[in-house]
Amino acid sequence: MKILCDFDGVLTNQVEEALQVQTAFLQTLAAIHPEQAQGVETLYKRVLQVMNENPWRHGWVRNGRVSAFANEDLFIRMNGVASCLDQWAYEGLYKADAWKKALMKNEIGSFVELLDLSFQKMVETTQAEQRNPLDPEVTKVLKGLLSHEVEVVIVSNSSTSRIEGILKMAELEKLPIRIRGNAKKYELGNEPKTMEVGSYFVEVDRPFYQKILDEEKPQAVIGDVFSLDLALPLTLAQQSGEEIDLFLRKREYTPQWSQDWMENSYFSGCRLHVIDELSVLVQWAQGAS
Ligand SMILES: [Mg+2]
Repeated sequence: MKILCDFDGVLTNQVEEALQVQTAFLQTLAAIHPEQAQGVETLYKRVLQVMNENPWRHGWVRNGRVSAFANEDLFIRMNGVASCLDQWAYEGLYKADAWKKALMKNEIGSFVELLDLSFQKMVETTQAEQRNPLDPEVTKVLKGLLSHEVEVVIVSNSSTSRIEGILKMAELEKLPIRIRGNAKKYELGNEPKTMEVGSYFVEVDRPFYQKILDEEKPQAVIGDVFSLDLALPLTLAQQSGEEIDLFLRKREYTPQWSQDWMENSYFSGCRLHVIDELSVLVQWAQGAS
């Protein structure tokens, strides 16, 4: 048995790290355009409001399409914020172009680029200060899975070095787990293809993730973001007729739409689970072995 396991938000609690990214992003905006520093908060609130009003249109934009929705996790919410601000700057709305000019004076090409820098800063802080964002149950669950001879492969958009560094903080670096970082699950190809999930259309044209899934052929996948982690494995299992267990790791930010859909959908051969606790995986392994 093999399980592909997402990292951020599945094995880690991302709340604090996402707050760090948000703070770095907003503080830089205030610093580079001091005469409008007071306006940063208002601008940010306006973006959140606009994203809430039209959640289908906002999120992690790749290739001109929404790859994952802003309401799916706290990092993706910041992706939505940055993309929306770049769009506003382009359209000359809400004075976003003034901030964009200030960014460019500081050799930062866009709001999305500022977000990448803010994310990188958070990653460096986590490592430098040895902040361990892993959930306390992770050690027990990983060892439990391995004891049932489940092969665990961490597949994440985060870099392999970030994941290795965090596992080391918890003294888990010697566990026989493979890590496939920089997985680019968010990257979309040139052939748009979606599946309908509630009132959302979720992209499944994800060539980088598809290559990994084709190579690994897992019996189970766990993720906390339906669009990024689970939509494609579900589609591929439907096409191939292979059985699969898909776990949506529920967090305080998990949107109702993905949770409801997972709980109320039925596909032959695909077992869909919404789980509050990682330890459910060990029970699953016990039943499956
Ligand atoms: Mg995740």
